[in-house]
Amino acid sequence: MAANADAIYRLPNPAEIDRSLTGTDVEKIVAMRKLKKAVERAWNTHTDEVKRAIESDFTGWGQTTTVVQFLASTEPAKGYYYDERRLLVNLIEAIRTRGRKDLTIHPGYAGPRELTAREADNLGAIVTRLKVVVTDIESVNQETRLKNVFGQTKVQDARNTFRAGIDTLEKFAAGKQVRIDMIKKKEVWHSPGSAGATQMTLSSGVLDEVDDSAVIVVAHEMTHIIPGGGATGDKMYSHQAGFKTAGEQLKLVTAAYYEEVVRQILKKEDTPPFIPVDGTSPHVITPTVLEQYKVLATKLVTDAWATVYNIYDKFREAGAFAEPRSKAGLSFRWPAEELAWMKNASRMLGLSIHRRSSLQADDKNPVTPLDMALVEHRIATLSKLMTRIPEVIALPMDVDTFREDKVDGVLRHALVLLNNNRATPGVLTNKNVDKDIDLIHCLAALNDAPGWAGLMPALKAGVPARMAGYGD
Ligand SMILES: [Zn+2]
Repeated sequence: MAANADAIYRLPNPAEIDRSLTGTDVEKIVAMRKLKKAVERAWNTHTDEVKRAIESDFTGWGQTTTVVQFLASTEPAKGYYYDERRLLVNLIEAIRTRGRKDLTIHPGYAGPRELTAREADNLGAIVTRLKVVVTDIESVNQETRLKNVFGQTKVQDARNTFRAGIDTLEKFAAGKQVRIDMIKKKEVWHSPGSAGATQMTLSSGVLDEVDDSAVIVVAHEMTHIIPGGGATGDKMYSHQAGFKTAGEQLKLVTAAYYEEVVRQILKKEDTPPFIPVDGTSPHVITPTVLEQYKVLATKLVTDAWATVYNIYDKFREAGAFAEPRSKAGLSFRWPAEELAWMKNASRMLGLSIHRRSSLQADDKNPVTPLDMALVEHRIATLSKLMTRIPEVIALPMDVDTFREDKVDGVLRHALVLLNNNRATPGVLTNKNVDKDIDLIHCLAALNDAPGWAGLMPALKAGVPARMAGYGD
């Protein structure tokens, strides 16, 4: 069984495969290879039992090779005549039938939906409960807790963020700016919600009940929507190395710490020992050298993950915009600058968009279902990679002190762990894990949360030098 068995790789809808395999013959072959690679990733996440059942199907279709050999081959399928495209469609169907059923097919350009009446009622009740919690936070009752989590001198700053968050949340709830995610971001992306200046999106199920966990999720998200530069980002999550020892300034602008305070209050937890390492608090512990590397590696992967998350949303919007026109056969052209960011993001992430030379005059949706599935693979892989960093137990050989420029050794170890102890091909790129590391650095450098004002200009401007010549 593959070591990365619980990373979820969804595949393009078989009914839409043809729209992924467009362009000249060469372009179709390139797209076909990328599709095979995507199927291979999904295949690797299944149990031996499921694989054996699908191998048996495959033989039944007259194939003389194994599924693995077929997916690895750049040659057309041999043996009994079978159209390559149809074989892939049948494989996806077999994976859907025998594997993770509801998590096999990527949902395409689906955007979030509006709340049902019941969900809207529940949101109202959650807001009411959260208001009580915020009022408590503003009182002397929770001062010790706030000092512990945010630092002695940051109590009022933290209170201000809670107040601004709940006030903005009330406006969002009244203005129908809270929506429900339709694409299972919680299961596949490890993200129960996301929020920006105009919209908060929650996982389906979050608003089914008015309970502590719903209040905690909404408390996190409400700090992301504060206008006027007050919004938090996701520089750190509570399960990550270094969460309790992060600097005070980072904590003030990171949603997970506000979530933490609300969780402690609702769950009536004793205050765990947060150890602010700057400001007015004494240095109580010094992390080991290995821990410092893990903190930095985790930060890089988290930042990269959030960048791809944002790029995905841009692709989804572009695809959803183009889709009705494409289906209606209406001709249109993307402005050059829009195509520029799509192609550059496609180059970095190994999609098919930059490989289609005809795109400038294309009247088809430039963002195919295959591209959407491939972007999501990078997100799923990065979220899985975060969980492997704690498993790195030794420093790289040539390292005994903490130096930022040596973090790649720890990243490499975590990537190899995720990749069943292989360095080639990579898990994020088709080249190798060293190219994966380059990609992580480039994506992390593009992260300018919480504002994200720099992401699109940077993507339009070009591919980062570190990825130049990658040419996937
Ligand atoms: Zn967040």
